[in-house]
Amino acid sequence: MSVLQPASSAIAVAAPQARRSRQAQVVWGGRVVKIGGDAPVCIQSMTNTDTVDAIATAIQVKELAQAGSELVRITVNTPEAAAAVPYVREQLDRMGIDVPLVGDFHYNGHTLLTDYPACAEALSKYRINPGNVGKGDKRDRQFGQMIEAAMRWQKPVRIGVNWGSLDQELLARLMDDNAQRATPLDAQQIMYEALISSALDSAQTAESMGMAGEQIILSCKVSGVQDLISVYRELAQRCNYPLHLGLTEAGMGTKGTVASTAALSVLLQEGIGDTIRVSLTPQPGEARTQEVVVASEILQALGLRMFNPSVTACPGCGRTTSTTFQELAKQIDDYLRQQMPVWRAQYPGVETLKVAVMGCIVNGPGESKHADIGISLPGTGEAPAAPVFIDGQKAATLRGSHIIAEFQQMVDAYIQRKFAP
Ligand code: SF4
Repeated sequence: MSVLQPASSAIAVAAPQARRSRQAQVVWGGRVVKIGGDAPVCIQSMTNTDTVDAIATAIQVKELAQAGSELVRITVNTPEAAAAVPYVREQLDRMGIDVPLVGDFHYNGHTLLTDYPACAEALSKYRINPGNVGKGDKRDRQFGQMIEAAMRWQKPVRIGVNWGSLDQELLARLMDDNAQRATPLDAQQIMYEALISSALDSAQTAESMGMAGEQIILSCKVSGVQDLISVYRELAQRCNYPLHLGLTEAGMGTKGTVASTAALSVLLQEGIGDTIRVSLTPQPGEARTQEVVVASEILQALGLRMFNPSVTACPGCGRTTSTTFQELAKQIDDYLRQQMPVWRAQYPGVETLKVAVMGCIVNGPGESKHADIGISLPGTGEAPAAPVFIDGQKAATLRGSHIIAEFQQMVDAYIQRKFAP
C-alpha cells in the first residue's frame, strides 16, 4: 500500500516572526545603533578586563568591535573604574573605534554616575540591575538617581534583571501572596513572575519619573534554556519595550555555545529579542571575541543577518580517508573571515557569498552547484580530480598537490568579479 499522499496545501516556508517593539537608539558621535522596532537584531558583548586599566580595556573593546560587536559593555564598579571610563572612550576615539560603550552598574551606580559626570557622559547607555540598587527606601531613591542621571545625559538604560540577583523583597512578597491563593502556583512560576515584575515595575517607575519609553530596554536573564524561553515569551506579551536577550552564565565551550544557541534560536524565531549577548566563559587561551563569533553565527544561521560568507562543508565519512577536504574547508573559512574587514568595504554584499567544500562525489557536485562556488574533492577510490562549480556550472577540474591554493585563487577571482562595485 502506498503511503504517498498528495499535499493538501503548499508547505509553509519557515521564517522568523516579527514582534514590533518601540525603538531605542544608542549613540556615540555619529554612530547610531538602533534597538527594536524595525532595526536588525544587534550584537552586544562585554569586556573582562579591569576597567581601571584603560588601555587594556580599550584594546579589548576594539577587538570585540572589530569582531562584530555593535555595543560593548564595560564594568563600572568603583570610583577608579568610573574615573577611567572617559580615558577608555578617548583611546577608542583615537583608534577610530566608534562603538558605543555601555556601563554596567551594581550597588553604587547612583553615586558613580553623580560623582563622575565625565563617566556618565562618555557612556552611551547604562545597565541598571534593579536587584542590586539597594534595599527598601534606599532602593527607590538610588534607582531614581540613576534614572535622573540617564535623563540628564540623555542616555537610554537597560533595566536588566538577573535571577542570580533578584530583588528578594519582591520575591518574598510574591511568595506570600501566592501562599494566600486557593490554588498556589509552583515556586518556579513565582520566580518567573518575580523576574518579569521586577523589570516591568522598574520600567514603569522610570517612565513615571519622566523617562521616555523609547529610552528603556529590558532583560530578564536566567541560566536555564527552558526558563529563558518561558520568561521571555511572557515578557514579550506584557510590554513593547525592546528586549535584550541572553542566557546568563551559559558556561564554557560547546556547552555554553549549544545552550545559548538553543535558547536564543527559539526566541528569535518567534520574533523575541532585539539585541543579544552570548555569555560564554572563555576557555583558557580562548579569545574573548568568541562570544561575538557565536552571536553572529546564530543570527546568520537563522537568516536574520549576514556577516560573513558561509562555507558549506560535509562532515566526511568512510569515503574520505584523507584530511585534504577538512584542511581545505578550514583554510577557506579562515581565509574568508580574515579578509572580511577589508572586503566588507571593498566588495559590498560579499557576506552573502556561499562556498561549498565537499568530500566526495555522493553529495559533492550537487551541494557545490547550490553554492556560488564549490569544490567536490575526490573520495576514496575516485579518480584524483576535483571539479569546481561556479554559479551552478562546472567551471574547472583541479588536480595535483596545489588544489587548495588554486581553489582559493578561484574564490578570490569570483569575489572580485561578482562583488566589485
Ligand atoms: S559528501 Fe561524500 S564524503 Fe562527504 S559525507 Fe557525504 S558521502 Fe561522505
